[in-house]
Amino acid sequence: MQCITDIKALRELLKQWRSAGESIAFVPTMGNLHAGHLQLVNRAKAQADRVVVSIFVNPTQFGVGEDFSLYPRTEQADQEKLQAAAVDVVFMPSTEAMYPVNELTKVSVSEVSESHCGAARPGHFDGVATVVCKLFNIVQPDKAFFGEKDFQQLTVINAMVADLNLPVVIISVPTVRESNGLAMSSRNGYLTAQQREQASQLYQCLCAAKRLIQAKQLSYVDIEKLQIKFLTEQGFRVDYFSICRRSDLQAAEHEDAEIVILVAARIGKTRLIDNVQLDIKN
Ligand code: AMP
Repeated sequence: MQCITDIKALRELLKQWRSAGESIAFVPTMGNLHAGHLQLVNRAKAQADRVVVSIFVNPTQFGVGEDFSLYPRTEQADQEKLQAAAVDVVFMPSTEAMYPVNELTKVSVSEVSESHCGAARPGHFDGVATVVCKLFNIVQPDKAFFGEKDFQQLTVINAMVADLNLPVVIISVPTVRESNGLAMSSRNGYLTAQQREQASQLYQCLCAAKRLIQAKQLSYVDIEKLQIKFLTEQGFRVDYFSICRRSDLQAAEHEDAEIVILVAARIGKTRLIDNVQLDIKN
C-alpha cells in the first residue's frame, strides 16, 4: 500500500493504472476507521482493480463550536487497517493541499441539503459536497462508495453527481452496527460504556417506528411524536425524528412507498445520527 499526501503524485500513479486499463474505486473517509469504513473498502475491492481510500478531516464541513479540533485522528492505526485490507493507496492530503488559497468556488446542492442535519448544521453539506467534488476531480474514480449511515449525505452526493454530470457511479453500502444495534461511528468514541448502551435505543426506536408504520394504525406525525417523547424521556436531546420520502427527504405521505426514517439526537455533547429504510406495499 502506498501512502500519498501530494495531489500531483497521486495523479501520476492513477494515470499509470488508467492507461493499463485498470478500474478505480474510491472510498472517501475522515479516518478513525472502524468496521463500517472497512465494509466500504471490501465492497470497493470486490468491484474494481484498484482501491483508493482518502483520509481527510475536512474543516469546511464543521461549524463553529463543532468538534473539528477534537475529531479523532488515528493515522497509524488507520494505515494498518487499510494495509490489512489490501488497499492500493491511502491518500492523506494536508488542509493546505486541499485548500491552498482562499477558495472562491463552492458546490451547494439546494433543497436536500437544507433540512434535517442541514438545518441543525448550516453549511455542513456545502462543505461535504465541495470536498467530495474536489476529491472526485483529483481521483476521477469509476465508482465511489458511501455509507447509508449518512443517508442525507448520500442523497446530497447522488444529486450532485446527477446534476453536474460527474462521470462516477455512486455505490451505497448498508450501515454496519454494533451487536446492540448502535450504528458504528467515529463519534461513538466520545461515549462512555453506559452512554453506548443508551445510544443503542436510537436504533430500537427506528425499528419500533418501522413496525408502527407497517401496522398502519397511527399517522406518521403521531409515530414521530411518540418516538421523540420516548427518546427525550430516556435522556436524549432530539434534533429530529422524521419519516421521509427517500427520493427527496420531504415528509412522507401515506401514498409514498419508499421511506426512510431519519433520526439525530444528542447524548451529552455527542450528536448521533441513524436511519432505517422501508418499502411500503399498498
Ligand atoms: P466518515 O469517516 O464518518 O466521513 O465516513 C466515511 C464513509 O463511511 C461515509 O460514506 C460514511 O457514510 C461511511 N460510514 C460511516 N459509518 C458507517 C457505518 N456504520 N456503516 C457503513 N458505512 C459507514
